[in-house]
Amino acid sequence: MAAFRVTTPIYYVNAKPHLGHAYTTIVADAVARWHRLLGDDVHLLTGTDEHGLKIQQAADAKGVSPKEFVDSIAPLFAEAWERLDIAHDDFIRTTEARHVAGVKALLQACHDAGDIELDTYRGQYCVACEAYLLPDDIVDGKCPVHRTEPQQVEETNYFFRLSRFGDRLLEWYAAHPDAIKPAHRMNEVLGFIRGGLDDFSVSRTSLDWGIPLPWDPDHVAYVWFDALANYVTAHGYGTDDAGFRGKWPVDYHFIGKDIIRFHCVYWPAMLMSAGLEPPRGWAVGGWLLVGGEKMSKTTGNVVNPLDLVDEVSVDGFRYYVLADTAYGNDGDFTHEGLLARYNSDLANNLGNLLSRVATVVGSKCGGIGPAPLPGSPLADAAARAVEDAAAAWEAVQPSRALEATWSLIRAANANLEVNEPWKMEPGPELDAVMGGALEVLRIVAILASPAMPRTCAEILRRIGIDRPVHEARIGRDTAWGGYPGGLAVTKGDPLFPRKKA
Ligand SMILES: [Zn+2]
Repeated sequence: MAAFRVTTPIYYVNAKPHLGHAYTTIVADAVARWHRLLGDDVHLLTGTDEHGLKIQQAADAKGVSPKEFVDSIAPLFAEAWERLDIAHDDFIRTTEARHVAGVKALLQACHDAGDIELDTYRGQYCVACEAYLLPDDIVDGKCPVHRTEPQQVEETNYFFRLSRFGDRLLEWYAAHPDAIKPAHRMNEVLGFIRGGLDDFSVSRTSLDWGIPLPWDPDHVAYVWFDALANYVTAHGYGTDDAGFRGKWPVDYHFIGKDIIRFHCVYWPAMLMSAGLEPPRGWAVGGWLLVGGEKMSKTTGNVVNPLDLVDEVSVDGFRYYVLADTAYGNDGDFTHEGLLARYNSDLANNLGNLLSRVATVVGSKCGGIGPAPLPGSPLADAAARAVEDAAAAWEAVQPSRALEATWSLIRAANANLEVNEPWKMEPGPELDAVMGGALEVLRIVAILASPAMPRTCAEILRRIGIDRPVHEARIGRDTAWGGYPGGLAVTKGDPLFPRKKA
């Protein structure tokens, strides 16, 4: 059995889960579900990033300890993923003992390799960014993001010697030219590396809420060695090294484009320093904008994904985020767009197909679904949809995979409109038309299940198939002719009641 291991970013718990978090997590979950249909041994890791200055400040403002604060926020992510049907295999919190031990081991390995050294840095520091600003970043003497004046800071910290890794990173990427999807993001990463790499600070003395460096506990690990390390600590690095060796490298880190430098430059260099392989790949998503702007507290356009689930159902929401934006490009969330897609693709196309089929089978076939015929005009369309969807999921392009799947739904609806089975007399001709439509529903339920697991389970149930959809296998169960016929077909409520736009 092939292994397929993927990760989402771990989310910083200074805010509740929003649409952007949900987007990346749903894409990773859907791709993981597809690989389960392939029969792969799948592992999906997600979690929360719980250390750092902003957490300490947020806790101080609430008059609670940082641990109490993160304990109140982390469950909101776990609950959101449960409501969004995210089937993760592990949820790591960076305050867990296994993570703390693993971070210390990773720091020690890089320190032992001579790549972490004490150094003094002077620069303009933006407290809100938690980052030094380069002279080019500063606009009119201020941080361009926060519009506040940076402070002149001089500090003695430990630095990771990223500057030593440029050639090794370029060599690695030359040997792994398909590691970053979509491909155009690779050029961005190579551009960063060729532009020259600066050492980066890995510790702070001004902060308590973090993991102490093993050789100098006056310093706590700062951001990168703490957060990025979750990808290895969750798999046992530093606590179960024998187990870890069988689980690393993972196949993909799913990330947003704004963290590409840290994930595709810093992280592989840190791993190389520690004597570990970089991950096999990165799947880089664009931003899901809201009304054309990046979501932020200041513009007040933060969208709570759970409100949308209440409105269009969990599968209506999952389908929208997967189908509406080509993964890798920026998408633009609008409420009108959500309802338009829901009505056209789900209510009118998929919902209508199931409802028509169940109605005609009920009225003309005694409620018993006939088997499909081998020569059905839909058999070729089904084979093409399976092939195109498989290629698109493999390329981490859920929108293309769903487009291929919906082309089969449209073909089946068109076939019903041509044959008008609701006007036909019971008999072999009618059975052939309805058997073909039922077979399309069966295959579509498998192909669309990574996006809409609940709906697809319900479709199978209504056409009389008891087996859970996650037990289906691409290939074995997606070939034409799998619907056995003779099963009771039930007509229930509309899968996706139309919404007023
Ligand atoms: Zn700033």
